[in-house]
Amino acid sequence: MLMRHTLKQKGLLDRAPITFVTAEPYAGHMGIGGMADSRWLIRKLMAEREIELLENTAISHFEPEMLHLADGRTLPFKFAMFLPPFRGQKFLREAAGLTDAKGMIPVLPTYRHPEFASIYAVGVATQLDPVEITPIPAGVPKVGLMSEEMALAVAHNIALELGVTVGDRVKPTLQSVCFADFGDTGALFIADPLLPDAAGNRHRAMTLTGFWVSWLKLAFEKYFLIKMRWGWTIPWFERWGFRAIGLPLVEPISTDIAIPTTVETVN
Ligand SMILES: Cc1cc2nc3c(=O)[nH]c(=O)nc-3n(C[C@H](O)[C@H](O)[C@H](O)COP(=O)(O)OP(=O)(O)OC[C@H]3O[C@@H](n4cnc5c(N)ncnc54)[C@H](O)[C@@H]3O)c2cc1C
Repeated sequence: MLMRHTLKQKGLLDRAPITFVTAEPYAGHMGIGGMADSRWLIRKLMAEREIELLENTAISHFEPEMLHLADGRTLPFKFAMFLPPFRGQKFLREAAGLTDAKGMIPVLPTYRHPEFASIYAVGVATQLDPVEITPIPAGVPKVGLMSEEMALAVAHNIALELGVTVGDRVKPTLQSVCFADFGDTGALFIADPLLPDAAGNRHRAMTLTGFWVSWLKLAFEKYFLIKMRWGWTIPWFERWGFRAIGLPLVEPISTDIAIPTTVETVN
C-alpha cells in the first residue's frame, strides 16, 4: 500500500497495477485468525485502492519477471516483493539440539531453553507456534513490542537466577501494539494477547484507522531511535503508560506451571 501511495504521488498508478498474493486463508488473517475487524478492514483498503487480491494462494517458484503459483497459474511482473517464511539463522540451526526444524528456539515460560539452562532466547528467534493450522502455512507475526516484552522478562528471570533481585519469575504477556503505515492512511492494531485462546477469543482486540496513524508511526520512529541512542530501552514513563492502558508487558508465571531447574553445560 505504501508502494501504491508512492506510485500515485508520481502519477504512475495507471501504468502499475498491483496484485497482492497471500498464503493467508483471507487477507487480514495475519496468521492469527484475524483480530477485531482486520478481515474486512484489509480487504476494504485493498479494494478501495484497486489492489487485486489472491488469497489462500501458494507460490511455486519465481522466474525472471514471472511468478508461478502452485495451482499452475502465472503472474508476470516488473517488480515483485516477496516475504519468504520465517526461518532461524544458520548459526542457530547448526547448533545441535538448539532449535526446532525451522531453526526457531523452543522456550519455557521463563524464555529459557528447555534443555540448556544457560540459554535464554528472545525475539523473532523464539518458537511461536500458530494457534490455527491454515491450508497453506501462514506464520505468526512477531512484532517489535513482543521482543521487548521477552527481553524484559528474560532480564528479570536471569537477575532472579543470579540472586540479585527478588520476586516471581515472569513471562511476556505477548500483548502487541502495531502501527501499520499505508501512506495516505494507517491502522493501529492492538491485540491482547497476540494469540487468541482455543475458542478464538482475546481479552481485547481493536483496530483504529486514520491518516493520524502514519504521523504517529513517524513520531514513534523518531522517539524510538532517540531512546535507543540514549540507551533508555523501556523508560519508566513508557512502562507506566503501557500499564495505564492495561498492557503490563510482563506478568508473573503461574506457580502451577512446573519449570525444570536442571542445569546443563553447553560448550
Ligand atoms: C517489513 C517489516 C515491517 C515490520 N513492521 C513492524 C511494525 O510496524 N511494528 C512492529 O512492532 N514490528 C514490526 N516488524 C517486526 C519487528 O521489526 C521485529 O519484531 C523486531 O525487529 C524483532 O526484533 P528482534 O531483536 O527479535 O530481531 P531482529 O530485529 O531481526 O534482530 C536480530 C539481529 O540479529 C543479528 N544477527 C543475525 N545473525 C547474526 C549472527 N550470526 N551474529 C550476530 N548477530 C546476528 C541481525 O543482524 C539482527 O540485527 C516488522 C518487520 C518487518 C520485516
